[in-house]
Amino acid sequence: MSLTVSSCIRCGTTVFPARYLCPVCGGAEWSEIEAARGTVTALTVVRHRVGAHNSGGVHLASVAMQAGPTVIACLKSVAEKGDAVCLALDEQHRIVASRS
Ligand SMILES: [Zn+2]
Repeated sequence: MSLTVSSCIRCGTTVFPARYLCPVCGGAEWSEIEAARGTVTALTVVRHRVGAHNSGGVHLASVAMQAGPTVIACLKSVAEKGDAVCLALDEQHRIVASRS
């Protein structure tokens, strides 16, 4: 599933997740744009998650999307700060990133 962000029709501001009103101009009309690519800006590992049985922890990355907003994504493959990644939604609608 591809990931999309909302782009304000009036001023072009991109937001994620979607909002009712644009935080910049107050506009309420949006167009959906695909946001498949981004760059890793920070990495973190979440360990000791309640109910998680894998001891390796969950690798999360802050990804600055080319479309504008920054999102937190689950890393499917090893990545480092500055790496270009592809973004998608998995079947549980979580954002996942893999090295492109
Ligand atoms: Zn706007």
